[in-house]
Amino acid sequence: MSLNPRLLIATEDIALARTLSWVLKENGYDVVTATESLQLSERLEQEEYDLLVFDVARGKPSNLARLESVREHGGHRDTPLLVLADQEFAADALDPFGLGGADLVQRPYRVRELLARIKAHLRVGRELNRARAEARSRSELVAILKEVTVAHDPEEIYQILVRRVAQGLRIPRCSVVLAEPGAAEGTVVAAFENPTLRDLRVDLARYPEIREALATGETVMVDDVQNHPLYADVRTIWGSEMQPSVTRSVIALPFPLRGSAAGVFFLRTTDDDPPLNRSDLGFAEQVIEASMTALEKAYDLREAQGGTELRQLADSDPLTGIPNRRVFDARIQDELDRARRYDQVVTVVLIDIDDFKRINDTFGHQVGDTVLKQLAVLLKRELRTMDFLARIGGEEFVIILPETGGTGARLFADRILRRVGQHNFGDASAEVWVTASAGLATFPDERVEDRESLLRLADENLYRAKHAGRNRYRD
Ligand code: GH3
Ligand code: MG
Ligand code: MG
Repeated sequence: MSLNPRLLIATEDIALARTLSWVLKENGYDVVTATESLQLSERLEQEEYDLLVFDVARGKPSNLARLESVREHGGHRDTPLLVLADQEFAADALDPFGLGGADLVQRPYRVRELLARIKAHLRVGRELNRARAEARSRSELVAILKEVTVAHDPEEIYQILVRRVAQGLRIPRCSVVLAEPGAAEGTVVAAFENPTLRDLRVDLARYPEIREALATGETVMVDDVQNHPLYADVRTIWGSEMQPSVTRSVIALPFPLRGSAAGVFFLRTTDDDPPLNRSDLGFAEQVIEASMTALEKAYDLREAQGGTELRQLADSDPLTGIPNRRVFDARIQDELDRARRYDQVVTVVLIDIDDFKRINDTFGHQVGDTVLKQLAVLLKRELRTMDFLARIGGEEFVIILPETGGTGARLFADRILRRVGQHNFGDASAEVWVTASAGLATFPDERVEDRESLLRLADENLYRAKHAGRNRYRD
């Protein structure tokens, strides 16, 4: 979903529609045009806009009549309106339409002026939206709570909260960072700006507002990051690096779990948005406070399902220490759901050591075990943070590559098989060389409906790789 302001341009002048929409898109707006009356009615019915731009060239009655449509489609009455007109056009011609609040820009249009006016209108629009959001906030809060209470686990709740808060405040960035007071690193467990992200480690040296919020237990709110003393040290880091987008204002809202500080909700705006204010903070606080009980319950439930230590044992393979089949089954289900929801690809790579019986027979079972342990380490080294590795059979491993398919997956398979072939699994005096084969399967694919069919496809491809002579992959 785009968070850009959405504009509707209504004009009969096709050239103007084209030029304006190009300029506005270049400036980060989503633009919809309507060059005929019928089209205009349709557009107004279909969607909400942040600003309407109406061209009433020469004030011809037919053009002015278009303004009627706004009144007819009552839902747009609060939307700011910018009227474009000729120089001869008299502003009071708008009065009969009850559009006294409309802003008028006369030809010749100067791009810079037009953009400045549009920006000003959108700002007012946002204030209005916020006022409406507040009026709605009670019922909205109930809706959020409903969503949160049926969520299964803490991660899901964090995802819901960042989405709800970001959308409610119309801000582009909102995330949850877990960390203890004084910790050097934190873990981002959910981010609205990147819904597929999970468990990203971040260096808290770069986030003084997060450290401050955790240390004091108080909300930190900064409306001008570029000049606030809290950022004196990090500004020197920023100065030496390319900043992808400049943060303008920040709210870091600490939250406790079971009585001790657990992390912060981290809200940010960039230069193009109005800074965050008290009412934004109020909304975020309400949402989060109301959800805490559900969050604690989700954590309790997770623990009741096994207890952390026991669960860790039950989750990992005793020989290699990496996750086992059971954890893999749950994880691949999550990844498939996620890929479906966010329209993304995901690949599984099934890896089987070649002629492993021969290794056992030649060097003994213990050497075989060492090979498996080293292979787990070697594979783990090749993963990105979001990838997942498990041992799902005797000498079978599987890797999940989220957001990866096609060439990316093939390059990965090619690389790991090469690494395996180049690694001496023995030592200098008794070298042990092994190769492995791999089968890939990527979702979406017409043969894949669920995790079973995904794995079946990977297995078939593994079989083809073995059949074609081993030490290769097939997809
Ligand atoms: P292929 O190239 O067709 O895969 O041949 P392969 O010999 O690897 O055949 P297969 O996959 O059928 O054989 C798996 C062997 O892996 C059988 C078993 O002896 C060995 N194995 C399975 N689990 C372990 C383990 O935990 N430790 C050791 N040392 N060997 C194991
Ligand atoms: Mg096997
Ligand atoms: Mg094998």
